[in-house]
Amino acid sequence: MRRFARVALDTPVRREFSYSVPSDLQDVQPGCRVRIPFGPRRLVGIVVGLENSPPSGVPPNKIRPLASLLDAEPLLTPALLRLARHVADTTFCSWGQALAAMLPASLRRGRARRSVPVVEIAGAMGEEQLAELRSPFPKQERALAFLMQAKGPVEVREFRNRTGLSKSPLESLAKRGWVRFGQRTERSDPFADAPKLDFPPPTLTPRQQECVDQICEALEDGKNEDFLLFGITGSGKTEVYLRALKRCLEQGRGAIILVPEIALTPQTVARFRARCGEVAVLHSALTDAERHDQWLAIAEGRLRVVVGARSALFAPVPDLGLVVLDEEHENSFKQDSVPRYHARGVARERAHIEGAVCIFGSATPSLESWQAAKEGRLRLLELPERVGGGTLPRVRLVDMRNEKPEQGKWLVVSRPLQEALGEALEREEQAILFLNRRGYSPAWHCRQCGGSVSCARCDVALTFHRWREKALCHRCLAESPPPRSCPGCGDPVTMVGVGTERAEETLLRLFPGVRIARMDRDTMVRRQDYESVLGDFGRGEFDILLGTQMVAKGLDFPRVTVVGVLDADTALHQPDFRAAERCFGLVAQVSGRAGRGERPGQVVVQTWMPEHAALRAAVHHDYPGFAKGEMEERRDFLYPPHVKGVRILVEGADPARADKAARDVMEILAPAAKEGGGILLGPAPPPIEKLRGRWRRQVLLKAPAGASMAPMREALYTLCQRQGVIVDPL
Ligand code: ADP
Ligand code: ZN
Repeated sequence: MRRFARVALDTPVRREFSYSVPSDLQDVQPGCRVRIPFGPRRLVGIVVGLENSPPSGVPPNKIRPLASLLDAEPLLTPALLRLARHVADTTFCSWGQALAAMLPASLRRGRARRSVPVVEIAGAMGEEQLAELRSPFPKQERALAFLMQAKGPVEVREFRNRTGLSKSPLESLAKRGWVRFGQRTERSDPFADAPKLDFPPPTLTPRQQECVDQICEALEDGKNEDFLLFGITGSGKTEVYLRALKRCLEQGRGAIILVPEIALTPQTVARFRARCGEVAVLHSALTDAERHDQWLAIAEGRLRVVVGARSALFAPVPDLGLVVLDEEHENSFKQDSVPRYHARGVARERAHIEGAVCIFGSATPSLESWQAAKEGRLRLLELPERVGGGTLPRVRLVDMRNEKPEQGKWLVVSRPLQEALGEALEREEQAILFLNRRGYSPAWHCRQCGGSVSCARCDVALTFHRWREKALCHRCLAESPPPRSCPGCGDPVTMVGVGTERAEETLLRLFPGVRIARMDRDTMVRRQDYESVLGDFGRGEFDILLGTQMVAKGLDFPRVTVVGVLDADTALHQPDFRAAERCFGLVAQVSGRAGRGERPGQVVVQTWMPEHAALRAAVHHDYPGFAKGEMEERRDFLYPPHVKGVRILVEGADPARADKAARDVMEILAPAAKEGGGILLGPAPPPIEKLRGRWRRQVLLKAPAGASMAPMREALYTLCQRQGVIVDPL
């Protein structure tokens, strides 16, 4: 008879709690959910261990009994319990927090909601209604404007996330009868009417065959083995995954395929369904109930293939044989709330625990994976050619400094890009243009004092959005009327820089009548909008697809022959040590969109820094060359993959309090860093010093090769349990 259960709770407190197991709950097993008394409250926790003796130092009569057992069978397998432990150890959170991140919200709470509240405009609304709300009720105006852009009902949760507003302006609008609430019970499966692809699988190229052979050999061995599939865009990586998947299913095992959220399109899903029948699709837009159902179907072995974004990594697939991480370099694989894990690390750990084969795939691998391949920790597989012998498009850098301004204004679309677009339109081909800034213009500048206009609560320049004539902070989403004068000196301010709205306006002027699909967070309110625009573009209903990073990934349109990057420097100017890596990856990814069909493609990249190493390498499609130079740079400045590190962020109501909080952090970390041989840097203001009215400071802790993490880990755990402290692995 097991008499004591160790229970993990979803709190930052880094310990488990012991309870006695009453005689009627003897069926309890590790991985089951239980209800427990906790102080005056009842909480749901997960049993992580059973013991015969009480925890040392606690008299048995002081230990309270479990209140009830929620699962007859364990909800989490021993492998998943271990995986959560790993996530906790590497991101410095508690075991319970890591476990909570694995479960669908419904199971964390105890039951699934069957419907979600939605809201939509009630009838035709226009400028007249917006104007009526404008000065007395700016929040209602914002809310209405947002709903006007959506082409149907929007989840209330989504509304809150996207506008930063609460539900109350919606309620006021509902009283006026301008919007109405509803419930969405059953979502029609967004992937149900995905095209049914059932063409015969292609004959593999010799290169693909080699890769597949190596992976299948590892699958036969039934032992964990990790691969890096380094293949240029269009080299047939997905076909390799599909063959490996087929072998894995023949063995009677299951698989998890992770793709970036944005790549979870009907096309992607259809490709997997066509080859391996029913697959579970897990993405962020599922309702609790849908996620719940999928989860149970997976756990019971009814669905053996899971395709999904980051969190699909925790799907309870029994007898897991294969884990694939496509586009492994993508930063959407990093979670930016607790637990701050990276899918790469967790994928490998899960494959390791389960004896599964793990494949990372990319045309531009992360330097972490590239280094691992060099050191033999990942087995390198290469696909250096496009399937069918197609060539990579020619990439041209346009030095914007040489583009003479017109009427005193710098060009948005350079002359070489104008020419390329003109010719493509002439031939009835299509183009994709990339600009990673939504809105009309990303800043206002004062010529007199050199100042710019920032958000009242954030240290962030305001973006002008033309369609609503508003200045918007892209961090806190606050809106204000466009500024007329400089807050510093009172002189008039001028708009500088180009966003997607302005680029669209320019293109319409240059090519009257051109059909442009603009794709950014302003035009793509709902997931369905994204899919419908891509469908229209694929059918040739638009000539140009213009957008933010939404257009950079995985799109495959054979009629696209021109790809333009309107401003490559946005990526390079990010205050982040990965800026160059991102910029290279971005140019390579967007280049991959050109010339997918019979006709050759060309890529035009506009920049003010044409001599930058990342751009020079991108012109030559030279990933290894770029990686070599960048790796040296990282070595010199002690950044990953050469060192491990964490960034610690603290905040305060004013600069003095933020400084104080940062000094406290230094005090806790300094002895640990000294003992472990770590390097402590800071405190310093982070790139965004003020956010939502709070002042912030950052501290960096780096652990070079040979440092001992143990003492530092203890200190980091201590910090993570504090309010207002963020510990973020680099
Ligand atoms: P990647 O994932 O590397 O960008 P894909 O797997 O999407 O490349 O392949 C690009 C295109 O080539 C797809 O349309 C795919 O169906 C096709 N393809 C892949 N392998 C072959 C092959 N061996 N023979 C013919 N076509 C192939
Ligand atoms: Zn702001």
